[in-house]
Amino acid sequence: MEMAAERERLCEIGRRMVETGLVLGTSGNISVRRGDLVAVTPGGVALDRLTPADCPVLDSSGRVVDGARAPSSEVPMHLAVYEATDAAAIVHTHSQYAVVVSTTMTELPPIHYNALLLGGVVRVAPYATYGTPELAAHVRAALAGRQAALMQNHGAIAIGHDLDQALSSARLLEWLCTVYVQAKMVGEPRILTEEELVAVIERAAQSPR
Ligand SMILES: [Zn+2]
Repeated sequence: MEMAAERERLCEIGRRMVETGLVLGTSGNISVRRGDLVAVTPGGVALDRLTPADCPVLDSSGRVVDGARAPSSEVPMHLAVYEATDAAAIVHTHSQYAVVVSTTMTELPPIHYNALLLGGVVRVAPYATYGTPELAAHVRAALAGRQAALMQNHGAIAIGHDLDQALSSARLLEWLCTVYVQAKMVGEPRILTEEELVAVIERAAQSPR
């Protein structure tokens, strides 16, 4: 089986995403890259019910080279992101607070310095129908210099050098969106200034958090 270990990891991460409430059933997809090949979750199967054989392996043009099931409809987005970045893993979710922010904002303002772990202000990629090249292009642009982006009226995407890192960025983004929405309920959240963010970067360079 091509990419057997990576396909096993997709199943583990998929289960963890459902168990922790980051996704509901089929509402998300994950992929991992090794060399020219990409293993991705299939369309229409709940992420906590996957087996390695369910997860097709694609070449860089999107052609299935192993696996019986059809890949997720979001494959164009995954391939576009791999083409544009050195990421080796992608986690896409419809997590609740990410969707809330994506429907109301054009970016997620930095109100907590942990936003720097995602590269700073998180952009919202403009809406386009799921699975289209237009959406793939919007998401690719929104991810420039970032570990994560929101997708307008849709969800969130996070990347990493492995699945654990992509998942932890997806969870951090959901946390940042939750904090922002809850802060808005009790007042107007103060946004960190450019100087304050630079000071955090300098501080982190001296003594890692
Ligand atoms: Zn989606």
